[in-house]
Amino acid sequence: MRILIHGGFFSESSQSDEIKQKKQEALKDIIKRGYDFLINHNALKTVVYTTTLLEDCPLFNAGIGSQIQSDGKLRMSASIMDGSSSLFSGVINIENVKNPVLIAEKLLQEDDRVLSGSGAQTFARKKGFKPFSAETLERRNEYNQKLKTSKTGTVGCVVLDSKGELAAATSTGGKGFEIPGRVSDSATIAGNYANKHCAVSCTGVGEDIISGAIACKIVTRVTDQYTLEAAFKKTFQELDTISGFAGAIGLDSKGNMICQESHPKVVYATYDGESVSLFE
Ligand code: ASP
Repeated sequence: MRILIHGGFFSESSQSDEIKQKKQEALKDIIKRGYDFLINHNALKTVVYTTTLLEDCPLFNAGIGSQIQSDGKLRMSASIMDGSSSLFSGVINIENVKNPVLIAEKLLQEDDRVLSGSGAQTFARKKGFKPFSAETLERRNEYNQKLKTSKTGTVGCVVLDSKGELAAATSTGGKGFEIPGRVSDSATIAGNYANKHCAVSCTGVGEDIISGAIACKIVTRVTDQYTLEAAFKKTFQELDTISGFAGAIGLDSKGNMICQESHPKVVYATYDGESVSLFE
């Protein structure tokens, strides 16, 4: 069993040592809760559960605490991918829900598995998800001051369960101050991808992640016999040719784990049932 999470880049807005420490504490708590859940649940259920915990923490740019777009509205994107069935589902730019990843989970059972905007919201209401404002005062203040700081801060989770099944989930409030209608990588196969061999979740500048097809490329390379390390290395070398800004976490079916980023520093955590390891 393996579980690995990320909480986006530390270079996020309002970064300070205090915030950094709070994020580390939050990651430690969440990774332990995710691991405990994994003991009795499969990889897919665990990535969803763990991502809801990350979405509920206002320190991260996903769910509660998501960044606000240029028109003053908060829109979120999230996706999941079940490695054993190779099915992907997601929501793009959904408003007024608490946990976008739960809507993505519901969509996994549908024929139409990626929904955007008002269509995603209508689907969520039909499935009983109550209206919820994920806005925090801090993000509104940032917006009001037009603190266009970084373009990072998403959350993600990859899991290998006791049966050897893999899954990935990624959730974001976007890059902040974006043009309404802009599509984040987080609900695409560039930002979140898994199959029987490998699971990857990304953070960073969505446009770069999409241009580099990061998650999908890494998983495909592992499927085609690259080691996890070599697949990350080659994919990040290619990202370098476009000066891309991205970070990613990955797990393969043998339990190998990796975190890599083009720029410092993404926050990652893993837990083996005894001790939490934090990386940045
Ligand atoms: N990748 C996300 C996006 O571009 C942002 C992030 O990772 O923080 O929407």
